[in-house]
Amino acid sequence: MNTVTTKRPGSAVRLSDLPHADYSEHVIDHTSDTLVYALGGLGEVGKNMYCVEHDDEIIIIDCGVLFPEDELLGVSYVIPDYSYLVKNQSKIKALVITHGHEDHIGGIPFFLQSIHLKEIYAPRFAKALIEKKLEEHRMMRGVKIIEINGESRIDTKHFRVGFFNTVHSIPDSYGVFINTPNGRIVETGDFKFDLTPVGEQSDYSKMAYMGAAGDGVTLLLSDSTNSGVPGFSISERAVAKAILEQMRKTPGRMLYPPSRRTFCV
Ligand SMILES: [Zn+2]
Repeated sequence: MNTVTTKRPGSAVRLSDLPHADYSEHVIDHTSDTLVYALGGLGEVGKNMYCVEHDDEIIIIDCGVLFPEDELLGVSYVIPDYSYLVKNQSKIKALVITHGHEDHIGGIPFFLQSIHLKEIYAPRFAKALIEKKLEEHRMMRGVKIIEINGESRIDTKHFRVGFFNTVHSIPDSYGVFINTPNGRIVETGDFKFDLTPVGEQSDYSKMAYMGAAGDGVTLLLSDSTNSGVPGFSISERAVAKAILEQMRKTPGRMLYPPSRRTFCV
């Protein structure tokens, strides 16, 4: 059973409030390697699933699907090959979710068909989407979705997992840090730097602190769709404004189709 601590969301984080032990306790111990691998999500937009393994423990970050291109006619979803995790499921200590886009949560019902998990850790909005998804698949029994926020910690024998606020095109997005016996791993999740976000601002102070405290960040896993395109993307606030303007200009009825393909953009 993992130890989980969490505080109410919305409280401001000051550097002086951050417990030192959270960010500087990793002692380099090369007697046993820490493995980092992706079962999906590298070089593709979809089926994100990163794993961090140390001895008898595995932490999984995200569990997404990929929507097939035209050549996969008749295929609804593409999911990662879970066979390694099926063989090693006794090692799985936590599945943590960074945000609620389908390429990060869409694989959960399929994953749970082959792997028994007691708990999934997810931000509030992603939690609601996962619960709806599992209800549709009649799979709510047997798995508990635990809400996390920027103050949550998950402690296992080898790992301390924590979170930091980021801004993305969906509410409640978090980056993940994992303190391992071989140093600190930071996985940013999908993010944008948006100076006028709709919800909470990115937790720049915690990001800076993680980089500066102790031995800093040993491994940074950072991935953001279209990050190779020069220039700035518009603020999420501008998106709502644009939709509102279109509604004002439109005589009569305006149909705005929400896509089931809630995806990273
Ligand atoms: Zn996303």
